[in-house]
Amino acid sequence: GSAAAVAAKGRDRLAAGKLPASLGGKAAGKVSDSAEEFETDSEDSDVSGSEGEDTSWISWFCSLRGNEFFCEIDDDYIQDDFNLCGLSNQVPYYDYALDLILDIESSNGDVFTDEQHELIESSAEMLYGLIHARYILTSKGLAAMLEKFKNYDFGRCPRVYCCGQPCLPAGQSDIPRSSTVKIYCPKCEDLHYPRSKYQGNIDGAYFGTTFPHLFLMTYPHLKPQKPSQQYVPKVFGFKLHKQS
Ligand SMILES: [Zn+2]
Repeated sequence: GSAAAVAAKGRDRLAAGKLPASLGGKAAGKVSDSAEEFETDSEDSDVSGSEGEDTSWISWFCSLRGNEFFCEIDDDYIQDDFNLCGLSNQVPYYDYALDLILDIESSNGDVFTDEQHELIESSAEMLYGLIHARYILTSKGLAAMLEKFKNYDFGRCPRVYCCGQPCLPAGQSDIPRSSTVKIYCPKCEDLHYPRSKYQGNIDGAYFGTTFPHLFLMTYPHLKPQKPSQQYVPKVFGFKLHKQS
């Protein structure tokens, strides 16, 4: 009945093919693009049953399909109450969710029903997301996201004239459940839907409205030039008249 047992149970369930509540419904969709086929191929390695005991909840969570945009938050950051200020009244089962994230065994010996386990799991996901939005604005968090950016973890801009520019995750709101995460292209300075529908269901508030811009202010050398070419529509080789 401990939080660690909750964690273990959650991992078992996921290993058995069940997705957590926040990812619910995604499994039913048709796998259509090559990125997702690649993800499907690696499905067996996503959740390793044998490593379940050694893997921290944070590493496990960040390795789930669709969670590629999340960096791993330092335990030290989460353990500092100051950083979590105001979150306890936004997340149900806050204390249990926090213990789950930190792999802390609850000493209370509380016993949970399956339904409660699921509520605690989805609370832990939400709590992690809300802490994540704050963490990625710190110097350590920005550095962690820099590594992911260099690794193209956030995908590339789909615009032809952006020439494969790597993007950054961005929220359109800082309020949870307002909108899903988008990717921001620093070249065309526009928002796009993530390529993977698994990523496309993640809450934008877990990244926030400030992150991509603070990132580019922190690492100004990564800010690319504006696209040098612009697409010109033509009919039989002639540019269209403005009034056409
Ligand atoms: Zn672009």
